Amino acid sequence: MDIVYNWHMTEKCNYACQYCFAHWTQHKEIWRDKATVYRILKEMKNAENSTALFPLNKNNQTVNTRINFAGGEPLLLGKSLIDFASKAREFGLKTSMISNGSLLLKFKEIAKYMDTIGISIDSLVSETNQKIGRQEKNGKSLNYNELSDIIIALKKENHDVQIKFNIVVNRYNYKENVVSSLLKLNPEKVKIFRELPFGENQTGITDEMFHNFLHINSDGGEKLYIEDNSAMTHSYLMIDPFGRFFQNGNNYDYSYSEPIHEIGFDKALNSIDFDASEYLNRYKIGDE
Ligand code: SF4
Repeated sequence: MDIVYNWHMTEKCNYACQYCFAHWTQHKEIWRDKATVYRILKEMKNAENSTALFPLNKNNQTVNTRINFAGGEPLLLGKSLIDFASKAREFGLKTSMISNGSLLLKFKEIAKYMDTIGISIDSLVSETNQKIGRQEKNGKSLNYNELSDIIIALKKENHDVQIKFNIVVNRYNYKENVVSSLLKLNPEKVKIFRELPFGENQTGITDEMFHNFLHINSDGGEKLYIEDNSAMTHSYLMIDPFGRFFQNGNNYDYSYSEPIHEIGFDKALNSIDFDASEYLNRYKIGDE
């Protein structure tokens, strides 16, 4: 099984989605210090036997550690992200990333160092993307043909790279059929999330809106994975741009560990409120 660490390398993004939770207000992002990032990646691999992870590997199954590079938009790190992914592979980590897709053609080389590339797409209708804020400052969002070109380019770089799409159901796209268009691009997986209540937005979307979306997007078969709010609390291993583990159990704020590069990976991992059984539940339904 995979132990997945979602490392939000930067909070900067060239899009401005209304529901985006990747906002922090302090400290210097540590990705500019490559030696520190490399050290954390190495400790991440060494943490496979950490006591914090015992519930996950008690059945003596093979454990792989995967680093999932996230943001903000991780490709705003440019060549540095390619270096991090390459180094992570060298240390024996599996690699994945989640991107809004806008820079994937420019940095398509990243596919050589990735097992999986996730692309977040909520809609293929430009007016909807505009309402969500899922576009660049000049109003540019990805359309179907551009997305298709990106997938072709990534597969050309690495035939084995897995493609995954993430959709967040929100108040602007819940009446649209997004999944059937995405499936034409032959991804390995399409994952549906629900807009989470967070910060000033304490409502997210209603059950009715979410189920409406699921109803009109139910044709994904075994490639489709659905994640409702309840499965998302304490069941992710997340690192912020400043090298701290964080959890989103409290709707109003995050809780944090001390910086990993100051107290060590294992100690930081053991200090957070991680729900290993919820993680296993997500894993069992193929939603790792
Ligand atoms: S693309 Fe992702 S990181 Fe960027 S604003 Fe939207 S949700 Fe946030």
